[in-house]
Amino acid sequence: MPEKFHIPEWGADTQNAAVATRVVHGVDGGHDGLPTKRKSTLQPASIRRRQLSPEDYVTGVLEQDRTILARTITLIESNAASHIACAQDVLKELLPHTGNSIRVGITGVPGVGKSTFIEALGCYLCRKGHHVAVLAVDPSSSVTRGSILGDKTRMERLSREENCFIRPSPSGGTLGGVSRKSRETILVCEAAGFDVILLETVGVGQNEVTVRSMVDFMLLLMITGAGDELQGIKKGVIELADALLINKADGENATRAEAARAEYSQALHYLTSFTEGWTTEAYTCSSLLETGISEIWEVVRTFISVMKKSGVFDTQRREQNRDWLHVMLEEELRRRFYHHTEVTTQLPAVEQAVLEGDMPVTTAVQQLFTLFDAPSDSL
Ligand code: GDP
Repeated sequence: MPEKFHIPEWGADTQNAAVATRVVHGVDGGHDGLPTKRKSTLQPASIRRRQLSPEDYVTGVLEQDRTILARTITLIESNAASHIACAQDVLKELLPHTGNSIRVGITGVPGVGKSTFIEALGCYLCRKGHHVAVLAVDPSSSVTRGSILGDKTRMERLSREENCFIRPSPSGGTLGGVSRKSRETILVCEAAGFDVILLETVGVGQNEVTVRSMVDFMLLLMITGAGDELQGIKKGVIELADALLINKADGENATRAEAARAEYSQALHYLTSFTEGWTTEAYTCSSLLETGISEIWEVVRTFISVMKKSGVFDTQRREQNRDWLHVMLEEELRRRFYHHTEVTTQLPAVEQAVLEGDMPVTTAVQQLFTLFDAPSDSL
C-alpha cells in the first residue's frame, strides 16, 4: 500500500479520460454487445477467446478497457485458488495507480430510493466530468439475494452514461469474502480511472459496518415515516453516517421531509459524529425531481476538503487498510482451521461430546487447537 494517498483536485483533467460503462454482470459480463469506448492493445475477439495473463489484465485496466475491467473484477470475485493468485499479481501491479477517488457509501432500507438517488447523483457527476463507478456491497446476500443492483433495468439512464460503470454485488461467498472482493474491486476501478466510487448497500446493520470500513464518506438515506421519526432506524447506523439525507422531499411529502430533517438535526446534536472534526447533519432531496443532489455533493466535497486539510482523510484510509489486514487474517485463520485434516476428522466427535454434555466447551476448543497446532500437511 502506498504510504500516502493523493487525491487530485477535480478539474479539467477529469473530463478527458473516456471510460465506458454498462451494467456488467457475472463472468465476462462486459460482453453484452455494447461498444467498448477505450480500445486496449489487445483485440476484443482474442480477449474473449483466450486466457489473459496478469500483464494483460494490468494493461487493459490501465488503458481503461471496459471489457478487461469487467474480466478483472470477475477474476477477483473468483474463489478458485489459481484465480486468487493471478488476481493478487494483478492487484500488486495496479496498487500504485489506486487511491485517487472519493469513496462514498450509500445505505438505507429497501424502498428508501437508493438506486433512484444513485442514478440522479451519478448522472449529475458524469455531467460534471467525473468518472463514476457504482458497486454494490451485499454481504448478507443470502438474505437479500438480488435485492440490490441485481436487476439490469435499475439505473437504466445512468448505465447509458459513457463515464459510468455499474457492477452488481459479487454473488455467494462468505461475508468476509464479499468484503475482500468489494475492496479489491474499488482498487481496480480506481486504477481504471474512476474518480468517484459509489458503494450501495442495503441497510441491515452489519452491511453498513462493512461498507463504512471501505469508504471516506457515508451517506444514510431516509424517508419520512408516520409515527416517531427516529423509530425503525437503529441509532448505531445513524452514528456511522457523515450525512443523513431525507429522500422523497417532493409533492405533498416536502413539508414532512423538512420537518423530519429538522427533527433529525436536533437528534444528531446528542450523538457523536463518526468522523473526527465533522458534524453530521441532515439534508433533504428528491431523487425523482433531482433536487438537492448538487447540494449533497457539495457537502461531500466540503467534507473531503476539510478532512484532507486536517489529515483525517489519510489517517482514516490507512486505518482502514490496517483493519482490513486483520479482517483477512481472521478469515484466513478460520479457513485454515476448518480445512485442517485432523480438525475436520475429530470435529464431529468433539461436537457430539459437547452436545451430550460430556465435554466442556473450553476443553473442546483446547483439544481442537492442540490438533491444529500440530504439524499437518493439509494447509
Ligand atoms: P431502493 O430499494 O432503496 O433502491 O429504492 P428505489 O430507488 O428502488 O425506489 C423505491 C421507490 O421509491 C420507487 O418507486 C421510486 O420511484 C420511488 N422514489 C425514489 N426516490 C424518490 C423521490 O425522490 N421521490 C418520490 N416521490 N419517489 C421516489
